Amino acid sequence: MTDKQDLLRRLPKVDDLLKDPALVKLLAGNPRRVVVDAVRSAIEAARIEIDVASRPEDAAGIVEPASLVADAARLVADIMDPSLRRVVNATGVVVHTNLGRSVLSPAAIAAVVEVAGAYSNTEFDIAAGKRGSRHDHIDKLLCRLTGAEAALAVNNNAAAVLLALSALAKGKEVIISRGQLVEIGGSFRIPDVMRQSGAKLREVGATNKTHIVDYRAAITEKTGLIMRAHPSNFQVVGFSAEVGLAEMVAVARENELPVLNDLGSGVMVDIAVAGLPDEPTVQASVAAGIDVTTFSGDKLLGGPQAGIAVGKKAFIDKMKKHPLARAVRIDKMTLAALEATLKVYFDEDTAAREIPTLAMLYAPLAELKKRADDLSARIEAVAGDAVAVSAEDDTSKAGGGALPLAELPTAVVALLPRRISVNKLEKLLRGFDVPIIGRIQDGRLLLDLRTIFPRDVPDIVAAVTSALAR
Ligand SMILES: *Cc1c(COP(=O)(O)O)cnc(C)c1O
Repeated sequence: MTDKQDLLRRLPKVDDLLKDPALVKLLAGNPRRVVVDAVRSAIEAARIEIDVASRPEDAAGIVEPASLVADAARLVADIMDPSLRRVVNATGVVVHTNLGRSVLSPAAIAAVVEVAGAYSNTEFDIAAGKRGSRHDHIDKLLCRLTGAEAALAVNNNAAAVLLALSALAKGKEVIISRGQLVEIGGSFRIPDVMRQSGAKLREVGATNKTHIVDYRAAITEKTGLIMRAHPSNFQVVGFSAEVGLAEMVAVARENELPVLNDLGSGVMVDIAVAGLPDEPTVQASVAAGIDVTTFSGDKLLGGPQAGIAVGKKAFIDKMKKHPLARAVRIDKMTLAALEATLKVYFDEDTAAREIPTLAMLYAPLAELKKRADDLSARIEAVAGDAVAVSAEDDTSKAGGGALPLAELPTAVVALLPRRISVNKLEKLLRGFDVPIIGRIQDGRLLLDLRTIFPRDVPDIVAAVTSALAR
């Protein structure tokens, strides 16, 4: 007869358990403190489990050293295994916020590595031998590329919008169309950001239609700014009307008010040439006379997480001098990646080739089909009859709130497992060493070649092999 006291007596001491060969091996590759804490926690958890067990014999297994060692190893892995790691994006969503948005170009990666492991002139003017400004590294580049007078880069676009509103419209009313009071995802809501900045929301028009007279009628001595926000992942279709940038700027000029245009994605090339829906460019916003245009660094621009503001010098300078600028300042690694990314944009063809985000958006369908055939054949070769596999046509998405309705014709590999459910296959691929993230559609698992890199293919084949071998 097992009783609780007997089980508790059989629990090993921490020091004794640490002599187990598996733990000795764990100690060799991990900090001693982490392993000892894990062993202590595993024994303590077992003690509690014995205490609360209604039938002691059910708890007998947990005092076995093998069980305690396995628990401890899991606890060590929880802390020491890399948390942030590479995954294979087989979803076909190019700018996937959950999967880290943009993949950097080789030039941007090299630039990050260079400044990360050395001292740098982040805020040092080498020629003058004194303190410099971190803004200097990309101001001129951004101005050249966009035609703006001045530029500023901060931590992300949400910060750029918050800083612009705080510096330019605190305590004043900001006029914005009801159709643009959107939530962008990750709880970035234009009205909330406005409240946070100390500006007062003055919404005009109706959800589907806003006319220039609506803006005009709303302007009073309390008005501080006119704002336009890209509706992002939301689109009003059908009976709708929006005021164009030029008209908005004209009304603002008449009343000596600045205009802020939150573009969101911030594309700097004409993506319509690749057959994609028209997306307003940063250059067009600047050319229309917008005072401050803000956009993300890691959406369609294809760079690091950053928020960029370009526009008139007087307003950008106000943003640079605002106390919030320090709180949202850009880091040196991001600056390095952004500088390298921007330089590629002087030639649109080079950008289309070297910026992975653009290269994926522009990928020719014929090439995607060829790669889908190849992947499908490789999976068929290793999986035999465990799965029905075929290369098919489908559609992918730009993501990141850009081109919300655009369906990009793509090629996918569709998997229908014969011995396990499709949900189980999805879960096993997701749990592989390099997690493979696909999408389930109509009862099959689809792997979209648009967002799959050549280096991902061996990982996908290995993951499918391992998942189906069970
Ligand atoms: C994505 C987006 C933002 C937020 O940009 P982050 O870089 O994610 O902070 C703000 N406004 C619009 C219109 C967006 O699309």
